[in-house]
Formats: sequence, C-alpha cells, structure tokens
Amino acid sequence: MRDEFPIFRNHPEWIYLDSAATAHKPQCVIDALAKFYAEDYATVHRAVYRPSLKATEQYNEARATAARFVHATAEEIIFTRGTTDAINLVAQSYGRTFLKPGDEILISEMEHHSNIVPWQMAAKYIGAHLRYIPMNDQGILEWKGRITPKTKLVSLAHVSNVTGTINPIAEIGKAAHAVGAKLLVDGAQAAPHLKIDVQELQCDFYAFSGHKCYGPTGIGVLYGKKALLEAMPPVQGGGDMIERVELENTTYQPPPLRFEAGTPIIGPAIALKEALEFIERHREADFLLPYATERLQAIPSLRIIGTAPHKGPILTFDIEGIHPLDIATLLDLKNIAIRSGHLCAQPLLRKFGLTAAARASFGLYNTREEVDQFADALTEIAIKSSRDVRVSSRCSHKQEQR
Ligand code: PLP
Repeated sequence: MRDEFPIFRNHPEWIYLDSAATAHKPQCVIDALAKFYAEDYATVHRAVYRPSLKATEQYNEARATAARFVHATAEEIIFTRGTTDAINLVAQSYGRTFLKPGDEILISEMEHHSNIVPWQMAAKYIGAHLRYIPMNDQGILEWKGRITPKTKLVSLAHVSNVTGTINPIAEIGKAAHAVGAKLLVDGAQAAPHLKIDVQELQCDFYAFSGHKCYGPTGIGVLYGKKALLEAMPPVQGGGDMIERVELENTTYQPPPLRFEAGTPIIGPAIALKEALEFIERHREADFLLPYATERLQAIPSLRIIGTAPHKGPILTFDIEGIHPLDIATLLDLKNIAIRSGHLCAQPLLRKFGLTAAARASFGLYNTREEVDQFADALTEIAIKSSRDVRVSSRCSHKQEQR
C-alpha cells in the first residue's frame, strides 16, 4: 500500500502514525484533483456550456458514490467542509427547529470536541438540557437506561478518536427510536476503516470527513434521512440553495442543494469519490491494531487508554514519568509522527485522570516493520524515563536527608 502514496516516495524515512488526525493521499486521489483543475475545471449547476455540464456530472457522481459508500440515496447526501461542519449543520438546523426548551440532548463523555461544543451551543440557544452517557475504565459507554422519554436527540461517535472504541450504534439507534429520539453518528474515525451502512446502523444522520478517508481537506459528508432533511431549514443562504428570490422572501431548493450554499466544494468532492473507492478496494489491508497493541502492552510503564474488545486502529497511551509531548518529540527525532496533547477530547482525558496523552493511529500505508520500529523506540524511551525517575527520586531522597 505504501507505494501508492507519493508522500512516502518523497520521504521514505517517515513513519506516519497520525492518520486519525488526517490521512495521506494515494496517487489516484491526487490525480483526480489535478485532472479536474487541469482538464475539466468549471463551476457546477449554473451554466449551459459543456465544461460546466461535465463538472456537474462529475460532482453528481461524487455524491452518488458517497451515497453508495454509506448505503443511502444521493438526495440524502450533503457535501460539507467536514465532520465538524456537518454536526454544526444538524445542531443549528434540526436542533434549533425541532428541539424545545426542557428537551434532552444526549451525548457521551468520549466525544470529540466537535460533537460536544455544537450541542452546548444549541442547548443554550434552545433552553434544552445536555446530558452525557458515562464511560467505564475500558472506554466502553454505559448507555443502557440513559435514553428516556425526555431524550429527543442522541449524538455519538461511531469510533472514539481516543480510546478507539467501536460503539454499538445499531443497538443505541433502536433504543433512541423507541422513545422517538433521533440519532446522529459522528463517523469521523469509522468511515476510513469500517463498512458503513446507515440502514443497519439505524441512524438519522451520519457525518464524516474526507481528509481522514485519504481524500482532500475541505470536504465532508453529512447523510440525513430524506424526510428529516426535507423538514429542515437551511442554515446558510445564497448560491444554489435558492429556488426563487423575491425582495421580501425566498423559497429554497429541496435537499441536498438547500444545504449547500454558495459555489460548492467541487474539486475536493470529485477527488473524494476516488478516495472512497480506494477505501472500498483496500479496507482489508487495515490489520495492524492487534499486533501494535501486543507490542505496546509489553512495555512495562506504558498504559493503554481504552481497552474495549472492539476497536478502530487507534492506540492512545501514557508512559509513567514522561510527558506525552516529550514522547512525541523524542519519536519525531526518529522520524516517527504521533499525536500528543488533549486530542480534542478534554472531558474524556479528564475521566482517565489526564490532561494530555500520546496517540498512535494507523492507516493503509503502515507496515508491521513500522510498528516494530515504533514499539522499539517507545521501549527505549520508557526504559530511559524510568531510570531518570529512579535517579531523580534518589537525588531528592538524599536532599531530604541533608
Ligand atoms: N469527530 C471525531 C471523532 C474526530 O476524530 C474528528 C477529528 O479529529 C472530528 C470529529 C472533527 O473532524 P474535522 O476536523 O475533519 O471536522
């Protein structure tokens, strides 16, 4: 797989373990983007000249591919800037229109900030209550009994960007619908790795980002059930979202165009089609998590954050006696890129008693040899830091004696 990604031809020494933040791009995606700008570039929807018709056709094909990717219809697919944009769209449109003061919005302690902050903002605006599903020490949601008749909207990660936990979305969707609540799924970490079927998952909305799926930045997907999208008002005005504009009033296009104000994100959407097809062709190459877990578990002072039995390819950890930023800096000196810090999930880290953690995440281009180099480097760091801790505690003991 690595050969399909030109970045690694340009930097053969790089070991990139931060795909949960953003994934590198295969040649086919780069080619699709370049071809569109070099050969086919034009705006969509508006013009009758042939290049515009061709661009419109390609843009529509991209939408059809995204629909197939999640098992929906094209009219249920809205192109957004990413997952954050998609969740904000639902919070502002569905939330502000259909939720009432006193209603409960249910999210969880494991959410990415992008699936917390929009709901805090919506709850404040509406006068609704925001409730959190707790999580146990393994990083598993304790959701049973939390969905009540007061719950009107549930919004949860499919896969946690910190613990890697794969949540039982279909079961939760069933429970949400039993009380008449809607379910939004934040699929940012799931779409690159799992087969997504919004029918099986029983969700009303599903959001994911192109750039984590080996596609370009600036493009994302929001799936919404047709009847819901039809009932929702737009959140931005202008461009092709209109049907008729009068001086006093405007009528809107049906979905999805109603939610795509302004000139759409044409080139990235067309390249996203390639990226999604690339995932469909290669998903089975995603196999490194069990081996990487085994290697990291063997490092004595290392603690893995999130030990659920079903996980996406994400390994968050800390090592006794060394700050995660130092771990990441030392690894960087060996050309190994991992993420460190609050991982955009401060409430989750607090739950584990942390303000920062280190995270390795895997993509289709990673190899077993890279996992070995990473684990060997971590072992060295852990041994050195435990030696430093022993020396410094001996020194402070001597100082106290003096
Ligand atoms: N949700 C989860 C679980 C994520 O991991 C991320 C990105 O890290 C997001 C949402 C936000 O994605 P984006 O920044 O592409 O909008």
